[in-house]
This record gives sequence, C-alpha cells and structure tokens, in this order.
Amino acid sequence: MSEGFAGSSTEVKKDKPLILIVDDSPTIRMSLKRAVEDEFQPLEAEDGEVAWTLLLQDADIELLITDLTMPHLDGFGLIRRLRENHAARMQNLPVIVVTGADDTAARERAFHAGANDFLTKDSDRIELLARLRAHLKLAQTIRQLEASQCELREQANTDALTGLANRRFFDEIAGKELSLMRRQQDYFSVLMIDIDHFKTVNDTYGHPIGDEILKRVAATLSDNLREEDTVARIGGEEFVVCSPATNRLASIVLAERLRKAVESLMIEFEGQRIPVTISLGIALRPLDGDDLQALLSVADERLYRAKQDGRNRFCVADKASQDDDGFAVDRICPRMDTALAMIRHGNLHRLKPHLSTLLQELIPFLELVNQQSAGAKVDVGRMREIAENLKE
Ligand code: GH3
Ligand code: MG
Ligand code: MG
Repeated sequence: MSEGFAGSSTEVKKDKPLILIVDDSPTIRMSLKRAVEDEFQPLEAEDGEVAWTLLLQDADIELLITDLTMPHLDGFGLIRRLRENHAARMQNLPVIVVTGADDTAARERAFHAGANDFLTKDSDRIELLARLRAHLKLAQTIRQLEASQCELREQANTDALTGLANRRFFDEIAGKELSLMRRQQDYFSVLMIDIDHFKTVNDTYGHPIGDEILKRVAATLSDNLREEDTVARIGGEEFVVCSPATNRLASIVLAERLRKAVESLMIEFEGQRIPVTISLGIALRPLDGDDLQALLSVADERLYRAKQDGRNRFCVADKASQDDDGFAVDRICPRMDTALAMIRHGNLHRLKPHLSTLLQELIPFLELVNQQSAGAKVDVGRMREIAENLKE
C-alpha cells in the first residue's frame, strides 16, 4: 500500500503534521511516538513547561497529546494556558488527553479546562490515529473557514478596483472618528473629491485606461494622507477623505497637497501624457455641521462650486466665518496647551470667551499645589469667584 508513496525518489516528500507528545514517563512517550510516527512528526516534552516553550517556538505544531499528572506544569495548567492565550493558534490547538480508564473526575476537569478529546493509556494504535486524523482535519477546516471569513470581511469593506475602503466601510470608520472628535471637542474635516472631465478621458482613451487612471489616483490619494486619515471610493470617479483633528488651515494644506499630487501624475498612453486633475470640496466640523451626513453634503456642495469655478481646485468655507486657524470662535473651548500656545502667539481675542472655563479647569491643579506647598497658599476660593465673574 505504501509503495506508491515511498517508491519514487524524485517525488517531493510531503511534510508530516507536527504533533507534540507531553508525558513525564519516557516509556509512554516512546510508545505514543511509535504509534503515530507513520503519519505524524512527533515532538516530545516531559512536562507542561517544556511543552509550552516548544509551542511558543514552533507555530507549526498542529496537535497536542498530553498526560495530566506531571511535575512543574501539569496537563490542566497547560490546557488552561493554551485556551487563555490571545493567539487563535493556541486557543484552537486540538488537545487530546491521555488518562486512566476509570478516571472520570480528571476527564471532567480536563474537559472544563478546554481539552478536546480523551484516550486511555491502553487505547490501540488504530483508535489513536483515527482520532488524531479527525482532530487534525477539523482544525484545518476551521482555519480555512476563518481565513475565508477574513477575506469576505475584507471584500465587504473594500472597493474591488482600487482596494480603497468602500462607502459602507467609510461611513463606519468616519462615524467613529467623528464621535471621538466630538467628545474631544476637536476638528474633523471631510474632503469630497471628483476627477475632472473623466467622461472625456474614458471616451478618448477607452474604459480600461480609465480604470488604470482610477487606480493611480486612488494610490496617490492614499499615499498623501496621514495614518489616521481615511480615503474611500464612493462612486465611479468620486472619492472621499476624512481627516480627524484637522482644522481649516490643515485641511486646505491637505487638499492642495492632494490636488498637486494628482496633477503631477505622469500617466502616458501611446507616448502621450494624459492630464488628470481633481476638484475638491472641504467641510469642517464643527462649523459646517456636526454629523457625517451634514458634513458630506456641505463638502459635496463645495465640490460642485469648485467645478463651477473652473475645476482642478478646492473650495472651502469663507474665511469670514472662521478665524485664521479655522477655529470656530465662541463655540469650542481650546485645550489648556492650545490656550497657552495662543497666548504665546498673541491670539488673545480668541481666548476671551473661554477664560472662565479655562480658569475652572485649573482649580484641581491649584488645589494640588496648595496640598504640596508648606508655605504660602493660592486663594482657590477667590479663583472660583473670579471664574464665576468672568462668566457674566
Ligand atoms: P466633471 O469634471 O464635471 O466631474 O466631469 P466628468 O466627466 O468627470 O463627470 P461625469 O459625472 O459626467 O462622468 C463621470 C464618468 O466617469 C462617467 C463614466 O464614464 C466614468 N466612470 C465611472 N465609473 C467608472 C469606472 O469604474 N471606470 C471607468 N473607466 N470610468 C468610470
Ligand atoms: Mg462624478
Ligand atoms: Mg468627474
């Protein structure tokens, strides 16, 4: 029967799956090893600790047979350690426990700790191999299922042509980022982007070249973003970017960087350069809205304006409604470090509406100073009074 496998010397030898045999008795290890070695490649460990080290070292171990009573780390401890580990490989490793025939209590404990199957010390070779094969197959099937689930999840989130996030995934990420920015009272900018005259490009050079351009533009956009920004393809030649903690000035810088990068792309067809440009519309939290739909629709209106104004440009809110940094005066109290920077840069007018809030924020700090100071104390009561007066 085995001739077919062993016969030809040119045949590539298929690696046998690795199995780890853990038992403090060298005799039992030897007998298990002999029983499995036709089909598996056995590794041995004399206790749970040695087994654990081997498991950490060798990610290819696919099965584990273990005794329960062993010095250092026993079988229960080893199984528990496996199941509590964060790696899926450890959690899902099939564990077959070898017990005495009538050791029901130990079996029950091992089962609760996470063992998959049991064998008695006198089980025959055929039974042992049948169980090992079944567990190996099951574990491999689970791994394949998990891999295809992961692939499906990725497909559900990405646009097939460009590999960017799709609209559904964008909404999910941007929604989370936006609520974080709301909580931290920070900026959030949305850039709606559309390729200019793309219909003409398609009509002139053909759809496949159009697709190539879409891929190049997509890659250029993502190459020019920060790690925390997200870009998605949300329509044929339409993209959207969200950028957390990005104020008016920073979003202008970002839009201009993207515009320039696309304009500079060298895309050639039959020796001729195809000019590609984009137009962008920028919306900013909190000034233009506080939820994603509102921001997207303002960004879309501004994209339309950028198109009307001649394309290959961005459109953002009028400066009149925001100050130099796009900071919505009167609406958001800056963080203390920002407030101190504003004082250093002489932006005092912007701080005035927030003096009471900032002073109140300092009170726990002043109380701590008083606790630590052996001598003179800060009049915290007076500070509270001043903060109250500043509110009026
Ligand atoms: P504008 O500057 O006003 O945006 O003009 P435009 O021609 O880009 O806009 P319009 O919306 O009229 O045309 C968009 C074109 O994008 C239509 C279609 O030919 C092309 N398009 C949409 N999806 C795809 C795609 O997946 N691949 C290719 N190659 N072209 C696409
Ligand atoms: Mg369009
Ligand atoms: Mg277009």
